[in-house]
Amino acid sequence: MKILVPVKRVIDYNVKVRVKADGSGVDLANVKMSMNPFDEIAVEEAIRLKEAGKASEVVLVSVGPQQAQETLRTGLAMGADRGILVKTEGTTEPLAVAKILKGIVGEEEPGLVILGKQAIDDDCNQTGQMLAALLGWAQGTFANEIDLGEGTVDVTREVDGGLQTVQLKMPAVVTTDLRLNEPRYASLPNIMKAKKKPIDEKSPDDYGVDVSPRLEVVTTKEPPAREAGIKVASVAELVEKLKNEAGVL
Ligand code: AMP
Repeated sequence: MKILVPVKRVIDYNVKVRVKADGSGVDLANVKMSMNPFDEIAVEEAIRLKEAGKASEVVLVSVGPQQAQETLRTGLAMGADRGILVKTEGTTEPLAVAKILKGIVGEEEPGLVILGKQAIDDDCNQTGQMLAALLGWAQGTFANEIDLGEGTVDVTREVDGGLQTVQLKMPAVVTTDLRLNEPRYASLPNIMKAKKKPIDEKSPDDYGVDVSPRLEVVTTKEPPAREAGIKVASVAELVEKLKNEAGVL
């Protein structure tokens, strides 16, 4: 069984994001980019399934600019087998990504597609769900544990009240939550090996997908700056302020 893992190139989670002066978006110039952290968890899970003899091949796909090739190489260095780069300019919205993924699923016929639950740049949390709907496949979102059976997969999901386990008929779509696993670091020999692994280049036209945006960003703002704290002289003063100023007691 093949596993397809979509990986997105996003601003590194350690970078302090700056909003452009005209409010049209965030500044991407000279900013460190990395694989979306939830996608690293997806790659790790797929590789573990392969190592356990439950999957035959791990194929990565990234929709984005030429530099998204580096993101694919990161996943190949972790242990994935090959990559597909679907080249686009600018932002590609989740619906367009899901349509492209549907085209790739048609060609590759994976038994599982494992995506991140959300991309940390747009925080959409949409692509996996849209892909499952477009394919008419079962979906297990926010996975905390994945257990492969015979033609089925049990996905334990992180929900508000705790954990919920659902059984999906395969092929299926799964999205990863933070606690599913801890992704490995790529070793130097594996980074070198990854340079030789194949990456196919495609375009949205190959899948008949129009990637023009359907949403307009009206404005982007920095969050309000945190105000400085104050010191209180006594517990009584603290309680008084919590009651009468903060209104939390
Ligand atoms: P989102 O719906 O944008 O929050 O993204 C959810 C997940 O969909 C991500 O964690 C990725 O696994 C996948 N995804 C979204 N956009 C892309 C992209 N441009 N290329 C590859 N995978 C993507």
